[in-house]
Amino acid sequence: METKRTLAALKPGERGEITEIQAEESEQQRLAQLGIVPGTEVSCKLRGSSGSPVAFTVRGVTLALRAEQCRRIKIRPLKSESGGRTYLLAGNPNVGKSTVFNALTGLKQHTGNWCGKTVTGAEGRFRHNGIPIRLIDTPGTYALNSATAEEAAAGEIIRQTPHDCILCICDATSPERSLRLALELRALDKRLVVCMNLMDEAEKKGIRIDCARLSEALGVPVIAITARKKQTLRPVLEAAETQACRADLQEADDPAGTNTLLDQAAELCRTAVTMPAHPHRRTDAADRLLTGTWLRYPLMAALLLVVFWLTLIGANYPSALLSRAFSALCTLLLRATASWPHVLSGALIDGALRGTGWVISVMLPPMAIFFPLFTLLEDTGLLPRLAFNMDGCCAKCRACGKQALTMTMGFGCNAVGVTECRIIESRRERLIAILTNALVPCNGRFPALLAVVTIFFAGGGAGSAVRAACIMTGLILLSIGVTFGASACLGKSILRGETGSFVLELPPYRRPQLRQMLVRSVLDRTVFVLGRAVMTAAPVSLLIWLFANITLGGQSILVHLSSVLAPAGHLLGLDGVILLAFILGLPANEIVLPVAVTAYLGTTSLTDYGSLEALHTLLAAHGWTHLTAACFLLFTLFHAPCATTLLTVYKETHSRRWTFTAFLLPVSIGITLCMLLTAAVRLCT
Ligand code: GDP
Repeated sequence: METKRTLAALKPGERGEITEIQAEESEQQRLAQLGIVPGTEVSCKLRGSSGSPVAFTVRGVTLALRAEQCRRIKIRPLKSESGGRTYLLAGNPNVGKSTVFNALTGLKQHTGNWCGKTVTGAEGRFRHNGIPIRLIDTPGTYALNSATAEEAAAGEIIRQTPHDCILCICDATSPERSLRLALELRALDKRLVVCMNLMDEAEKKGIRIDCARLSEALGVPVIAITARKKQTLRPVLEAAETQACRADLQEADDPAGTNTLLDQAAELCRTAVTMPAHPHRRTDAADRLLTGTWLRYPLMAALLLVVFWLTLIGANYPSALLSRAFSALCTLLLRATASWPHVLSGALIDGALRGTGWVISVMLPPMAIFFPLFTLLEDTGLLPRLAFNMDGCCAKCRACGKQALTMTMGFGCNAVGVTECRIIESRRERLIAILTNALVPCNGRFPALLAVVTIFFAGGGAGSAVRAACIMTGLILLSIGVTFGASACLGKSILRGETGSFVLELPPYRRPQLRQMLVRSVLDRTVFVLGRAVMTAAPVSLLIWLFANITLGGQSILVHLSSVLAPAGHLLGLDGVILLAFILGLPANEIVLPVAVTAYLGTTSLTDYGSLEALHTLLAAHGWTHLTAACFLLFTLFHAPCATTLLTVYKETHSRRWTFTAFLLPVSIGITLCMLLTAAVRLCT
């Protein structure tokens, strides 16, 4: 029976309510003086190695009793989630919630210096003083009753998730708005700890915060932290444990009105915060430069150019090295398996391994350079400036300026870009952003673009990397232009309506954490994209090899399939094999060029396939001209989104019609552009 349990039975992290104390009167009196009486909530914190003594948190203090004393105190066990505590992380966007979450749980929640990147809650677990803790990160919000989808979700998680304490993360560099939310949370639940984050930045700017005074005024602990330094989080956990144990804090106050909350926050700042005259001087100066009328577009284009140039310059040599290594491996394995049936060694080595080798040698080096550079842009705070600069164009196209942010995320991964569209408040503008996201090339498409640009259009010699970078920048600008064009068409036809409000926060520029940036971009992005490409490339390459080597009526299945598609391919300036590769590439855009290469290799004896010169020879041998390459580039930019992106569109819109539109829009643009270019070139020659 539960009521017969005693305090001695509680394990670290478990809670109970004292029901009866069966001790001598003098001991009962002593315990009562310490606050241990029937009805008191206790939580077990630590046990000695032999099970005694046992440390408990009682009324906010930690007390240790011997196990035999504990056996005389009967309790009613209280349910706590997963036998421990549940803490909620709440706060405005971009105040460091994910950084705190990652530091405590060791997980890798996406962090970045722009508002709105955390659009879904995350959950992690860790132990503090032996107590299992479940930590739930909530999307950034300014208020609990907010109009936007993700902010409303934050309010809902906070209200509906049973929890033991809320950790409200505040921005010490602009404390007033953060404190407004802290006040609102305090009205909801006093089991609250206010964490003044970004103290390192605040100190550099000369901002001084009197946490003791704030704590006194708020009636809850206020702790100064620097989330990037994990050791500063320890006092937060101690305070959270104390708050969690205080049953008297659970009742809610009357919620106050918005103005009153703002006034109260301002008043708190007047009493406890000292601000210098110009705390954001450097950020303001950099903003004037980056968003200035004359410089903003050239600067943004130059930034793109530098990113591509560095990627191209850096990727060439390791790509060639990897390609040679795979070539040698294939030759070695073919020799070693000479006695195997040809269909087996051919399918596995010439098919699956060769295709996979191509994907790795062509994709890995550019990704390993491009992703850290992209993460750098994200971490420094340049992305919101990009959105700021693009808002004029967006407004003209009846789209929201924040679409620039979702587009930028689309350069990383279109599926992520589509999910990020939740930061756009208006449903109409959100749909425009979702449907047009795949018009910007995701990183899965970059390696193919880079390879074809380099071998067909960059020319040889010293300036080839610069030329290739310029062409790549041109292609990206084209994709941005087409995205705006398509947004305007949608905004004036099937998605007509009023322009929604545009509120964008420009965070201060921050120095990125280089180690974190590298780990995140390599592990989260490079390995993820490469892994997905390899997982798809291996079976598809094997399939292609079989298609190329199994004959029906004297001709391989591949020839049959590509000749069926050849007329359509010809109309688009491509050929049947390329069109087949685009169709087979639906699971992952990364594999389109590798599939085409494997298909061509199926009918050629070329073995040194991976280097760019060899690729050029192979493609030229199969009839690729500059027109084919240009159409390939256009169709790579504008063709069906990958299966994951389409699935994400469906999840976000819950509509087959919109998902089909997301498929049809880029495909029809790609087909139209390729047909027009092909017709124009054929007419002129
Ligand atoms: P969230 O949107 O609230 O989850 O915020 P993030 O955790 O993504 O952090 C926003 C930005 O602030 C990121 O660039 C972080 O690296 C940075 N950041 C977070 N905490 C600190 C801190 O204590 N000091 C400094 N200098 N930067 C921080």
